[in-house]
Amino acid sequence: MPKPLTYNATLVERIDTTPQLAVFKFRPDEPLAGDPLFVPGQYLTLGMNNEAKPELGSVLRPMSIASAPEEPDVVEFYIRYVAWPESDNPLTHLLWETKAGDRLFMTSKVKGHFTVQHAIGDDDPRLKVCVAAGTGLAPFVSMVRSLHLSGRDDGLSQYAILHGASYPADLGYREELDALARRGLHYMVSISRPKESPEWQGDAGRVEDYFLADRLPELDERLGLGAGGLRPDRVAIFICGLQGTIGQTITRLAHRGFVPDNRKLRRALEVPDDMPASLFFEQYDTTPVIDVNDPAVVEPLRDQLRAALVEA
Ligand SMILES: Cc1cc2nc3c(=O)[nH]c(=O)nc-3n(C[C@H](O)[C@H](O)[C@H](O)COP(=O)(O)OP(=O)(O)OC[C@H]3O[C@@H](n4cnc5c(N)ncnc54)[C@H](O)[C@@H]3O)c2cc1C
Repeated sequence: MPKPLTYNATLVERIDTTPQLAVFKFRPDEPLAGDPLFVPGQYLTLGMNNEAKPELGSVLRPMSIASAPEEPDVVEFYIRYVAWPESDNPLTHLLWETKAGDRLFMTSKVKGHFTVQHAIGDDDPRLKVCVAAGTGLAPFVSMVRSLHLSGRDDGLSQYAILHGASYPADLGYREELDALARRGLHYMVSISRPKESPEWQGDAGRVEDYFLADRLPELDERLGLGAGGLRPDRVAIFICGLQGTIGQTITRLAHRGFVPDNRKLRRALEVPDDMPASLFFEQYDTTPVIDVNDPAVVEPLRDQLRAALVEA
């Protein structure tokens, strides 16, 4: 059993937006170090000891930082309660028992390469289309909040956040993102269970459905790209969430020539080494995003991507 964690951070605020979704704000005993403190898109690891069942020990899980590096005092996370976890000591079940003032463990070293800086460089002028399912929104909140807090609102128009959730109430950070949309951010939301929300007038379907062949032309227009404009010379794709959203987005955008960054996928799709990536993802679960061992999946994808790259 891992040894008990020594707690080093305090929960200063918890905002439950629904029974399963909450924003947690933690103050580390030792402020994060570094200049900048982190790059939007990076993550920290949270941990707790199971005090009710000490025999289960402690649990650690990575969590994307939702706050911006310009907010040095507290670190914010957007977390879903996982109703059907895989482990016998799920962190989210312990977290859901906490209240302001409670203590927990948080790593002090930020990690991760799911950043614009690392993927394409901060100066890349392409539109960053950020595809978020559920709490996969967190890294993108950090990115656009950082632009705003650092007085770089002119950069917001280079970002498009596409957020999908089951119900309207699950569309976290909506007011904040709506406000940033008035300053230039492209912001689109979609809910996947519209029948259960008859009052909903907006887009319906999973977030990856924006990339369905019959809906792509509309997306081109709504993002101001013009017909067929959602292409790697004008757009870089960032996806965050679970396997389904990531796999479907990659599959549905292959014919537009989007090249994944992931080495295993590149090899399976026979992408030449010198071909720059234009699609990046952060995955919260562990199911392979695409079954690279299934020729029925890989071959059509490879052919579509190859045709698109030849055409470009
Ligand atoms: C780099 C990274 C950053 C992450 N950032 C976040 C974040 O900002 N917010 C967040 O809620 N989670 C995030 N996660 C997922 C998180 O680390 C845990 O996996 C999740 O909280 C479940 O942990 P658990 O111990 O409660 O459940 P476990 O017993 O570990 O169950 C794991 C299963 O939970 C499901 N799951 C994991 N994450 C989610 C999710 N977000 N929504 C729905 N189902 C999920 C998956 O099926 C996964 O296989 C991140 C994961 C990674 C790798």
